[in-house]
Amino acid sequence: MIPRGAGRVARGRSEVPFPAIAAALCLLVSTLAAQAPRPVEYRLSFPAPQHHWLAVDVRFPDLEDAPLHVRMSSASPGRYARHEFAKNLIEIAFTGAGGAPVQVDRRGPAHWEVAGHGGTVRVRYRLFGDRVDGTYLAVDATHAHMNAPATLLWAEGLEERAARVTLARPEGADWNVATQLFPTGDPLTWTAPNLAYLLDSPIEFSDFALRTFTVPDPADPAYRPTFRVAVHHAGSEAGLAAYVAAVESVVRETVPIFGEFPRFETGAYTFIADYLPAASGDAMEHRNSTVLTANAGLDSPGSRTRLLGSVAHEFVHAWNVERIRPRSLEPFDFTAANVSGDLWLAEGFTNYYGALILQRAGLVGLAATLDRFARVISTVTNGPGRRLRSVVEMSRMAPFTDAATAIDPTNFRNTFISYYVWGEAIGLGLDLALRERTGGRATLDDYMRALWQEFGRGGDDVPGVVARPYTPADAEAVLARVAGDAAFARDFFARYIDGREVPDYARLLRQAGILLRPVAPGRASLGALPLGGGMRVVRSTAYGSPLHTAGIGRDDTITSFDGRRVASASDLRRLSGSKRPGDRVRLGFRRLGRNMETTVTLAADDRIEIVPAESTGASLSPAQQAFRRSWLGSRQ
Ligand SMILES: [Zn+2]
Repeated sequence: MIPRGAGRVARGRSEVPFPAIAAALCLLVSTLAAQAPRPVEYRLSFPAPQHHWLAVDVRFPDLEDAPLHVRMSSASPGRYARHEFAKNLIEIAFTGAGGAPVQVDRRGPAHWEVAGHGGTVRVRYRLFGDRVDGTYLAVDATHAHMNAPATLLWAEGLEERAARVTLARPEGADWNVATQLFPTGDPLTWTAPNLAYLLDSPIEFSDFALRTFTVPDPADPAYRPTFRVAVHHAGSEAGLAAYVAAVESVVRETVPIFGEFPRFETGAYTFIADYLPAASGDAMEHRNSTVLTANAGLDSPGSRTRLLGSVAHEFVHAWNVERIRPRSLEPFDFTAANVSGDLWLAEGFTNYYGALILQRAGLVGLAATLDRFARVISTVTNGPGRRLRSVVEMSRMAPFTDAATAIDPTNFRNTFISYYVWGEAIGLGLDLALRERTGGRATLDDYMRALWQEFGRGGDDVPGVVARPYTPADAEAVLARVAGDAAFARDFFARYIDGREVPDYARLLRQAGILLRPVAPGRASLGALPLGGGMRVVRSTAYGSPLHTAGIGRDDTITSFDGRRVASASDLRRLSGSKRPGDRVRLGFRRLGRNMETTVTLAADDRIEIVPAESTGASLSPAQQAFRRSWLGSRQ
């Protein structure tokens, strides 16, 4: 809804007749400048930060006579469920020109219609916020951590207006601002060229540690964007230094995938990290920044490594999602849930690169990466949700699953597989399949770079607006071109993206001298055992699993297996492990106080592991060594 109008302005501008004489253009520009309405002004103050609220004073000047529709967002880019940010308003008051009263009609939970304003509307409100993450708002004695849609009211029809945001420090606080907003001469005043950019700009206002580095663009060494790492944490200087060094190596390892950096509009990209005991684990992408939050410290290497996965994932988003953007998410609707069938590519491929970049940069070991891929492949291959929906349909479930809350139970263990995980599995499969198909001439990196060149780069004349979003048909057409093989692209999309098949990972991984194999070949299993204390089933049994097929459900208590009493999950595992897949066994259980019996058919143990061939005593062929280097080795 918002950026569409801004896009029209951009196209209109380019239609100014080029041969017009310079004087006329100057006159036109100065006339336009004279007529340009003043920006929307936001003033943020924090009179009692320890009580978790802030005060906002907004002025919408130079309005036409019509009523102004003021809104609080119900969605935030990068979060796909609805979030009602208006629920935390403490109080709100509206006035018109000269402080005169206005007529206010509450049109919805987050929508006010303001009439009789005389050309200016001023809104003053207080807002409670106590969640440190990438979506919400947190104010406390140490900081104000603000996601813009959770904090700032806005008005319909003013989407193309610039905005100015001025912050006032709490008394005695030595706080500074970390944000992707545009700087001014005043360190506490920042601007945005339009509403889409404003609402995409989180603000951390605290006594954070700031480190910066620059990295030359590989395609244009004169372009050296600055990377700012603003960290609000309680750890040591040494931990911070190690973290910042790792962030730099993530940046250096990511850029070769796309061949160049995006043109960050302010010349800088900002990592805003809050690693605090009160923080929730989260990470959120923005156009020229990211917010990273966790209840974790920087001082132990293991903890740092866990944080770096999010760093890599979010930095990939500076290309994939922020600029290579699906049409289903552009323009973003701040008043409703945004449904996209493309999150397998937008989030899933980003997840795959999060893992791959850490591996290529040497920030994790091979065993950890292969364990992760084994979990990903296993979740997708064995996940009951795959019987029901494709990854495109899973993407469209994001409004129900992405930090969405509900008080009635869901059955997502059976009906949903995360598009992050399934999309990562597809990214892995496509990378290996492209390399196999083309003898290593084309890779997923080439695919991402081709998407970047066609849809991501350029078109930056309106910051915050993606001029050329892609469709699923575009994504397939680019794959056909990169593979040099339209039939391959059609087949891949039909089977693994629109369909519900999984690639043959064992064959694909063998190219790199890596083995995918069952953990316990030939062993019988009852599958996952959703048992609580004792033998009571505490969750839905998995669709298609032996227990589910035998009719066992939540609140049944298993009492015997093959005529023997069982008292623990390990009893069940031991007894079922002594049978063969396909064996039929009597299973006793108690339901609503009655003893009952059913017959269960044992399945094959479906656990898998992925290991380097050399760990089994085999040696790698030169082709396998070269494949592995090209895939997992550093590209710097
Ligand atoms: Zn993401």
